[in-house]
Amino acid sequence: MIDAAALAGRETVAYRLHGNCYLNLTQRCTLRCRFCPKFNGTWRVKDFDLRLHREPSVEQLIAAAGDPRRYREVVFCGLGEPTLRLPTVLAVAGRLRAEGARIRLNTDGLASLTHGSDVTPELAGRIDALSVSLNAQNPEVYNRHCRPKLPGAYAAMLEFVRRARRFVPDITVTAIDGLAGVDIAACAEIADRLGVNFRRRVLDNVG
Ligand code: SF4
Repeated sequence: MIDAAALAGRETVAYRLHGNCYLNLTQRCTLRCRFCPKFNGTWRVKDFDLRLHREPSVEQLIAAAGDPRRYREVVFCGLGEPTLRLPTVLAVAGRLRAEGARIRLNTDGLASLTHGSDVTPELAGRIDALSVSLNAQNPEVYNRHCRPKLPGAYAAMLEFVRRARRFVPDITVTAIDGLAGVDIAACAEIADRLGVNFRRRVLDNVG
């Protein structure tokens, strides 16, 4: 991989983990999750400091990824919500996919709520896989852990998943085992009803 830090003022724009290339494009979020490292005194994930002082451009992200065919997947991730920079995500995804990458977007599923319109059709042909943070089996538990800035976030996230099914072939929703009140079996049932995959996450394990 190209030295991403050199490309963006010594910041971690791209990092390699689990055979994937992770792209870190913002530290802004729609949620304020109590369990998030950045609200618990650290910006580090594994060996990487994900604090960004400047958001990388499309060209910096593409340069930092290098040859995407070296990875299983290129993943939009980081300690921020990638879809707050949706045009950048779509531009980078389109270019890297044309070079042979498989593209995964890790998201809170609130892009349509944030942008004020259904953005799921824009994912078609650019995003191969979505990993959406379901996080809870109901809005009460979700709001307690995730502290959304916008009202109606839980319902909007579910609707985002429903609509995205038409445009993204591989969708997984996730929840973190061990958080107070989170019922993993109930979360898995919601995934089942939505017709998408479910992944149980362990706190502090990224990817
Ligand atoms: S969505 Fe992710 S990065 Fe944002 S606050 Fe929650 S855990 Fe942290």
